[in-house]
Amino acid sequence: MPSFNLSRLEQCIRLVPDFPQAGILFRDITPLLSEHFASTISAMQAQLNDQQWQQIDALVGIESRGFILAAGLAQAMQKGLILVRKPGKLPPPVISQAYSLEYGQDCLEIAAQQTPKRVLLVDDVLATGGTLAASEALCLSASHQVQGALVLMNLASLNQYTCQNQPVHSVWTYR
Ligand code: AMP
Repeated sequence: MPSFNLSRLEQCIRLVPDFPQAGILFRDITPLLSEHFASTISAMQAQLNDQQWQQIDALVGIESRGFILAAGLAQAMQKGLILVRKPGKLPPPVISQAYSLEYGQDCLEIAAQQTPKRVLLVDDVLATGGTLAASEALCLSASHQVQGALVLMNLASLNQYTCQNQPVHSVWTYR
């Protein structure tokens, strides 16, 4: 596993006030990805122990930054990859779930009728928890077994979300 220095990685997350709308402090991971992609994946990988990883068959990447992180983790851990996408992107049959996020309303979809797997949800930021809750509900509707969720940043002051009654794994938690 490539080594990582958490404070060095954290310095590469750009804080953008009032984006995409007033009052939101947007956490931009694109500088982190461009400088330290492999180390970022290692830092996420390290949030679960070997036994926890053994109980996961596939990573669920949530559109769109979750795709990047879940794909890196799937490659590193030799796991499968399942996509949760914005509406109209996946071909039928799909299952849909409406949800609200920190800035607006949206809907997510997952492929129906796929082989059920033990999955870990992956995204960059946990804010209100709407996105992860909708993704968790979609996975359960699609008969997947949800083992937990993993994010880079948990904005814990904005949510009380737990995944299957377990705290969300996160590299950084901001209270
Ligand atoms: P939520 O559903 O409120 O937990 O929002 C999580 C989703 O919105 C994730 O997919 C994030 O990529 C995005 N998001 C929400 N808040 C932020 C933020 N402050 N900075 C960057 N992305 C955010």
